[in-house]
This record gives sequence, C-alpha cells and structure tokens, in this order.
Amino acid sequence: MGTSSAMDPCAPQPPLFTFGLIADVQYADIDDGFNFTRTRRRYYRSSLQLLKNALRSWSESAVKPAFILQLGDLIDGFNKPRGASQRALDAVLREFASCPVRVHHVWGNHEFYNFSRSELVGSPLDSSPYADSRPSEVPGQDPIYAYQFSPFPGFTFVVLDGYDVSLLGRQESSEQYNNAMNLIKLYNNNEDLNCPPELECHSRFTMFNGGYSREQLDWLESVLSAADEKQERVTIVSHLPVHPYSTDSVCLAWNYEDLLAVIRSHSCVVCYMAGHAHDAGYCLDQDTGVHHLTVDGVIETVPDSDAYGTVSVYADRMVLVGKGRMADRVLLFL
Ligand SMILES: [Zn+2]
Repeated sequence: MGTSSAMDPCAPQPPLFTFGLIADVQYADIDDGFNFTRTRRRYYRSSLQLLKNALRSWSESAVKPAFILQLGDLIDGFNKPRGASQRALDAVLREFASCPVRVHHVWGNHEFYNFSRSELVGSPLDSSPYADSRPSEVPGQDPIYAYQFSPFPGFTFVVLDGYDVSLLGRQESSEQYNNAMNLIKLYNNNEDLNCPPELECHSRFTMFNGGYSREQLDWLESVLSAADEKQERVTIVSHLPVHPYSTDSVCLAWNYEDLLAVIRSHSCVVCYMAGHAHDAGYCLDQDTGVHHLTVDGVIETVPDSDAYGTVSVYADRMVLVGKGRMADRVLLFL
C-alpha cells in the first residue's frame, strides 16, 4: 500500500515559486556577425526564435513562473544606425506579450545604444512600476533604474542599474556624464574608449561598461539592512557582473569592489545574477556564501540550441534547470 505524497516526509516538495532567466538576446534583423575580437559568432536573427522557445516553454509549463528576469541587451546596437530600434523592440515585445508572465527588464549597454535614458523611462522596458520601492528621484535628473520587489514572503529581488555612472544614456551636458568621463579617462588612454586598457586590472574601464553611484549603493544598503532585519533571502540582478571570479575581467562593473563591499556587509544576500559576458560564469564568494552567477547570452548561442533557464526556489536553495547550453545549478542558501 502506497503512502500519499502529502503524508510522506521524503516526497519531493514543490518549490515555493519559480522564475525564468534569460540574457543578452540582442535581436536585430541582420545577418550573423562576430564579436569585437571576431572570435565568436553572433546569431542576430535567430536570437528571436530562441527567445520564442523560452517564452513558449514558460507559457506551457504546468506551474507558471512567478516572473521572468530579462538581464539586459534585449535588442542589438546595430539596430540604431539602421533606424530599426523601434521595429526590433516591437518584434521582441510582441513575443513577450504572448506569454502570460510578468517580465522584469534589466537595462544593458545595448538598451542605451538604441535609446536615451529618458526614452527608456516609462517605456515598455521600464518594469519599475512593479517595484515595491526604489531610490528617490532627484528633480531635473534622469532617474536611476533600480528597484526591489518581493514575489513571495521572505524573498526580495533587487534590480540594479549598472549604467548609472556611464557614458551611455546620459546627456553629454549632464554632470553625471562629465563625472563618468573623468573616471574612465583615469584608466583608459585609448582614442576609442570601447577599446579596453591593456592592464588587466583596469580592462573594465571601457565605454560598454559602467558603475553604481554612491546614491544607488546607499539605497541598496538601506534595502539590505531592512532585509537583514526581516531575515529575508535577497537576490540581486544587474547587467554587469561584480565578482572577478564569475566572469572575464573586461566585463566587470567599473566599481565592482564598492558593490561587493555592500553585499558582503549584509547576511541577507544569497545570489547575484548578471548577463553581459555571453559566456556563463559562476563562483561562490567564500566569505559570504553568496552565489555569483553570470548567465549565457542568447546572441552567441547556435540556432539549434537554447539559452534560458527556470529557477525553482525552495526554503533552503534555488535550483536552476537550464535549457540548451545553460547548465543546471543548485544554489544552496549558506
Ligand atoms: Zn551588455
């Protein structure tokens, strides 16, 4: 005689909730190309089909994900000179509209190649209306695109703005642009600021990266202090990786040490997720037990494969089940 699973303490428990994960779709209606160093193929057209595959899988799953995390670079910068930014955005948003799951969009460098910060604010790529809280706005300044939301009691997610301090998206006349220019020039003497400095410890100071302002870090500090008190589990997502062992040094946020220091001073953080690098990376920060996950990019994934994942969240762990080249991973809350 069998025991019903409700009675069996060893039966697998259902997750508290699940969420979808996808990064760097970089769609454009153009032929395949290559990355900057011409070592990796980019499948600009096929990336739309891979996005469809992911969304179909989430739409058809028996238990719908609570939300989707889209980690930035949804359409490629090549759309801009072709006057195709809006058309490409409409094409990817049509796909998202076919899926009945809420999407949290992160902004990457390619968002800013196509649109200014003020154009992105209030656009369909601005998911901050789903925020429980966000940094206070400064009158006359384009806002920082950061916010927190709580999809389930005891769990908080924080979306961070990796281009808060950057040469992208801000008006050239603004004080922020000026400050970012002064910072990058301290380390990057190249005429083309998209070209990384030769010194590896400075290679992240390129135009395609950016950083986190003191204002944003202070806001994060307050969010994490509140979460510490409530003993919540916090996952932080951003376009840019911040742990040197989780990615290539050329992909790190400019002031990754500042963000790492904030993360390390709070016990509530369990995971940091980023895109941007196109190749997966992972490390466990030994000091804090925080998992740093860099997610594979759709754009450099062969057309007959896939690059998305679904994360199941339990009381003591998150379990990532990847499709195609995205690897499975168990992230224990330590
Ligand atoms: Zn990027």
